Amino acid sequence: IPRAQRGLPTKKPIPGVTNVIAVASGKGGVGKSTTSVNLSLAIASMKKRVGILDADIFGPSIPRLMNLTGKPELTESGNQLIPLMNYGIKCMSLGFLIPEESPVVWRGLMVMKALQQLIYQVHWGQLDVLVIDLPPGTGDVQLTLTQQVEMTGAVIVSTPQELALADAVKGANMFKSVNVPVLGIIQNMSTFVCPHCTHETHIFGAEGARRMSEQLGYEFLGDIPLDVDVCKLSDQGKPIVVAKPESAQAKAYKDITAKV
Ligand code: ADP
Repeated sequence: IPRAQRGLPTKKPIPGVTNVIAVASGKGGVGKSTTSVNLSLAIASMKKRVGILDADIFGPSIPRLMNLTGKPELTESGNQLIPLMNYGIKCMSLGFLIPEESPVVWRGLMVMKALQQLIYQVHWGQLDVLVIDLPPGTGDVQLTLTQQVEMTGAVIVSTPQELALADAVKGANMFKSVNVPVLGIIQNMSTFVCPHCTHETHIFGAEGARRMSEQLGYEFLGDIPLDVDVCKLSDQGKPIVVAKPESAQAKAYKDITAKV
């Protein structure tokens, strides 16, 4: 039975956008936004036109990660927002629209309204890929987006830690329930190599996300080690894929991209 006849919202494509890929995580702080940005840059390095939609309401980090500030302008017709651009990537974020210091409750109310605008009233032009940085977990924003937008698929970022994995499984189930294919799992912060003695430490466990992918039948897309440069360069608004394109970490992001 078609979704509309079941009283469910029908999914719509985003005009001008060929592929929509959601980046999700079960928990905050596992590196979802860092992954969204570096994957986007890795895709752009393959001569694709890429945009990032930051839908992480309570912690929009795309402006900082992409070194962007300012307010988006409107198109001449006045009904579409023009994305801001850096490193060849068009970006739109709630962080550009809502003052950072707004109280959370007010932000929550504004957010669902703003989200509707962000979905269909952004002038993306022609994009090969739009990466959506989702908020962590499985709340209203994720559901609204996955129910309304026609998505190519979702990638899930998790650390190898049991707690993070349990939440990542919930995330994967949410995508299944709204018929969005899970393209695979990315394991972040699995290995730390000491820069002094080169000893390898598995701070959050070693292979948890890989094991989970195998158990649940999802593709394991790759590993991003815990790395000082990834963190430091992110804070400076210089993602490692553009700042150090020859580094092992940048290559890891590019290898993952090739599989998506
Ligand atoms: P999330 O979007 O899941 O909340 P972020 O992408 O904001 O997570 O990352 C949380 C913190 O961890 C940030 O300070 C980021 O720079 C850092 N981080 C993410 N991935 C790595 C990594 N592979 N190595 C080192 N630091 C990382």
